[in-house]
Amino acid sequence: MKTKLLLYLIFAMLPVTLAANNPAVKPIRILVITGNHSYKVEPFNQMLSALGDNITYQIAELPAAYDMFKPENRSKYDVLVFYHMWQNITDEQAKVFAECIHQGKPLVALHHSICAYDNWPEYFNIIGGKYFHSPTTVKGIEYPACSYIHDVHFKVKVVSKNNPVTKGISDFDIFDETYKGYYVEDGVVPLLTTEDPGSNPVIGWTKIYGKARVITLQSGHDTPTFENPNYRKLLQQSIEWVYNKGKIQ
Ligand SMILES: [Zn+2]
Repeated sequence: MKTKLLLYLIFAMLPVTLAANNPAVKPIRILVITGNHSYKVEPFNQMLSALGDNITYQIAELPAAYDMFKPENRSKYDVLVFYHMWQNITDEQAKVFAECIHQGKPLVALHHSICAYDNWPEYFNIIGGKYFHSPTTVKGIEYPACSYIHDVHFKVKVVSKNNPVTKGISDFDIFDETYKGYYVEDGVVPLLTTEDPGSNPVIGWTKIYGKARVITLQSGHDTPTFENPNYRKLLQQSIEWVYNKGKIQ
């Protein structure tokens, strides 16, 4: 009788154990924040759909998306993905926004989201960088306005092949927009670099903001990048890595 009970308990617990060890059972729900910058919606969404069965997405556009940072809505998604270039924010919205990430909501910030919030310095701290539309002083240093170039063929170099974010990705070619002169915070961990003269050298990095892992990727302007298999893999592994904090490293 005792053996039967034990067997019953083992089998009863098996699905729970399997579910806990199999991330495919519970997808990572990403919330993509957009607004104040146009983009090709269909190929962008195709890229999001192709990130694997383990990742599902919803899109929220600012300013309505500010509601999603509120405590009562934070359980509706697992990872934030920024693809916005929003500028206006009230003190209260800024407090709730920063607190959401500081308390542990992981974040992947893409491309023109580096250009958002010109007048909110805490945003620079959240993503670890900032594209300046006009001369801007950060931590006592004045930076001139940045520049960009569209339609550049260039090589992306992977800093470490052992990093879980860039695992399985070799240096690759990309056709994208470059930014030059943007601020990158001291102490971020570089993931990707380039030697293209129209770009900053560091074009992808990770940092910790409060309890959250953050990854910022400069690339991601248009369809060629959305369809680039290396970029898709990078985005997928970025989302997985910021989400699985504590399980890797
Ligand atoms: Zn762009």
